[in-house]
Amino acid sequence: MKPIQRSSKLEGVCYDIRGPVAQEAKRMEEEGHRILKLNIGNPAPFGFEAPDEILKHVIHNLPTAQGYSDSQGIYPARVAVAQYYQQRGIRGADADDVFIGNGVSELILMALQGLLNNDDEVLIPSPDYPLWTAAVNLAGGKARHYRCDEQQDWAPDLDDLRSKISKKTKALVLINPNNPTGAVYSNEVLLALLEIARQHQLVVLSDEIYDKILYDGTEHTSTAALCDDLLLLTFGGLSKNYRIAGFRVGWLFISGAKRQAQHYVDGLRILASMRLCANVPCQHAVQTALGGYQSIFELTAPGGRLYEQMDAAWQQINQIPGLSCTRPKGAMYLFPKIDRSKIKVRDDELMVLDFLRQHKVLLVHGRAFNWPEPDHFRIVFLPHKEQLEQAIDRLQQFLGSYQQ
Ligand code: PLP
Repeated sequence: MKPIQRSSKLEGVCYDIRGPVAQEAKRMEEEGHRILKLNIGNPAPFGFEAPDEILKHVIHNLPTAQGYSDSQGIYPARVAVAQYYQQRGIRGADADDVFIGNGVSELILMALQGLLNNDDEVLIPSPDYPLWTAAVNLAGGKARHYRCDEQQDWAPDLDDLRSKISKKTKALVLINPNNPTGAVYSNEVLLALLEIARQHQLVVLSDEIYDKILYDGTEHTSTAALCDDLLLLTFGGLSKNYRIAGFRVGWLFISGAKRQAQHYVDGLRILASMRLCANVPCQHAVQTALGGYQSIFELTAPGGRLYEQMDAAWQQINQIPGLSCTRPKGAMYLFPKIDRSKIKVRDDELMVLDFLRQHKVLLVHGRAFNWPEPDHFRIVFLPHKEQLEQAIDRLQQFLGSYQQ
């Protein structure tokens, strides 16, 4: 048989968080090595478990959750999401505006498949959560990356963003709170972004999956609460705020210029029907999660486990000669900068691979997040403090003599 090639649709489609370096980690594990995986924002394996009431509710509903559901999701889940956004200041939210999916990941793919014609352009932050770029490319579009400015707490560089707009630009993606930088945008920044979107009639896609994981008194505004004249798609889910990434539950909420977007929304309904529905037992978690006690706030407050780990890891990283890191306002990652005049790195992917091989700790290189220079990496601060401290000690030891 002749070689079977993958489809040309996959050109420009990659997801390096689970790419070659992670594959090498898997191979090393198969050889018997223990690898500390600081590459994925997956809270449960680090002991951040779901609130009990969520598990109980899912188990309770299991016997009645054997069939398919409505393609947009079970009604109580959609109502709970609509009410959540109403409480966050979005007017006119309705259960029909909600699509429940198998994680935000599935809904990002659907939203872009339904929106883009070939060569349509989408503005995506750099650095980004790389699924966004991959999904735009898979949908036949072109990702145009706008730079976020490390000197300005990683806020979007609006001049750079404007310079990336063309006649083909169709949508603007925001990731807020941001993965990988931990930035949370002020209302001023959001309003400026919305004004640009308004001038160019862009659809706004706001990924807010970390909207409850906030530090140091930071407040989060849902972009859609500031605008009702454009079409806004807000993405959220249970993977991070409620630590149940394995349940694969996310949602897409449509607001603003819904009437003008009827054709597109009907397209989304077709796509949702084609995959029948999201995992039904786990959809039952949504209402309990959103309506119940928000234990995440205990974890992110000073003295809480997530806060303390963030704070300790951030301080320790900043003490390493040649590294500097903006303090995250949200999410669960640090994205330190490597001063390449002090640490001789030419290829950041090779650096994380060398670190993995020598010290059995898995990080992700900055270019995996569509950051153009090889001078950053991402570290997840989910392990307990002692384990994180050991991993960062090893990093310091490694970088102390590292040279490419
Ligand atoms: N969006 C962002 C910014 C993420 O960081 C992630 C996962 O890490 C996702 C979306 C996907 O989440 P889900 O588990 O809901 O598919």
